[in-house]
Amino acid sequence: MSGTSSFTPYISPVVRQFEPYVAGRSIAEIKEAFGLERVIKLASNENPLGCSPRVQEVLREQAALAFRYPQAGNPRLVQAIAAHHGVDPARVITSDGSDEVIDLLFRVCARPGVHNVVAFKPCFGIYTTQARFAGVELRQTPLNPDFTMDFDALLRLVDKNTAMVFVTSPDNPSGRAASRESLARLAGALPEHCMLVVDEAYIDFVRAERGGEAAFTMIPVLDEHPNVAVVRTFSKSRSMAGVRLGYGILPGDLASYLWRVRLPFSVSLLAEEAGIVAINDDAFHAETLRVVEEGRRQLEAGLTALGCTVTPSDANFICFSHPAMNDAAAVNDKLLRQGVIVRGLASYGLPDHIRVSVGTAEENSLFLDALAGALPGAQA
Ligand SMILES: *Cc1c(COP(=O)(O)O)cnc(C)c1O
Repeated sequence: MSGTSSFTPYISPVVRQFEPYVAGRSIAEIKEAFGLERVIKLASNENPLGCSPRVQEVLREQAALAFRYPQAGNPRLVQAIAAHHGVDPARVITSDGSDEVIDLLFRVCARPGVHNVVAFKPCFGIYTTQARFAGVELRQTPLNPDFTMDFDALLRLVDKNTAMVFVTSPDNPSGRAASRESLARLAGALPEHCMLVVDEAYIDFVRAERGGEAAFTMIPVLDEHPNVAVVRTFSKSRSMAGVRLGYGILPGDLASYLWRVRLPFSVSLLAEEAGIVAINDDAFHAETLRVVEEGRRQLEAGLTALGCTVTPSDANFICFSHPAMNDAAAVNDKLLRQGVIVRGLASYGLPDHIRVSVGTAEENSLFLDALAGALPGAQA
């Protein structure tokens, strides 16, 4: 079909305002474009160890069952998730990536044209797009210049029509984590009808010296905070970004409403089986955390040595700038030519910042070497 299809006038006006999603450039594309043999991708915060061997094994084993529908309600996966976190299974909703839980929360909790949702700026792109698609106003207050979070400013945007407040912790793209105390205080200060949604996609990467996930996740205190919902994903530390699996741990009655409207088979049979294995794959998870902790130290030291300003990160990526780098796109382009894909942050409103995912020790070195030659003022 051509782009001038005569059906455009009949498309919903909300949808007509959307631009096509622009994905990052793939390894294959960059190899082809610059005639490179090796390209490393440190752009999407994927697991540096690749896919867990046990997850690969279960995907192979279950391949023959791919003709079957998954079990509606994913009861075994829900049990596994609930047992892992020590929560009531009634609180758990599984989803096609955590993106789907976020999308469902907008549709279930907010009424189009009536309600608003509050978040920091910048925030994860899915909050922005799904708010728009749901017809819900998104109100934003800027993060502080050092990317710390001003919760009082967030609270000032909340009114009687605020359905939800979204906080990503650790945040993307900054890597900063909010303390449990500050989130608990925020939840307590919100009106009863307003849900605090905490996106914990990166929570298990919180530095061990700060107490790690156990000290930061809101899951253990959910019973004390009836208006808090937690969103999690298998895409990062559990190495399954391509399988698509996420979940929410919600107030029980809210979970039951999401279940009523979630597409019945949005979590595939393969995702369900892989998830049950992945959530119990303690050895792989521990190794992932070890490699990320070491790699983060390596990148922080290397970036600092190159004169970069590094935001302290509790995630598996690092956000940085450089005094001479006004336009990260030019640096990005030089990195691409050397076979290194990272994430420029122009779409987050940070055109002078780059986000790099923590890779293996070798990938981190390759990136740092390439960056040394790509920063403004470097000898080509
Ligand atoms: C990567 C990421 C997710 C995970 O999304 P999936 O749909 O589960 O792959 C969620 N929230 C944030 C902030 C992220 O960066």
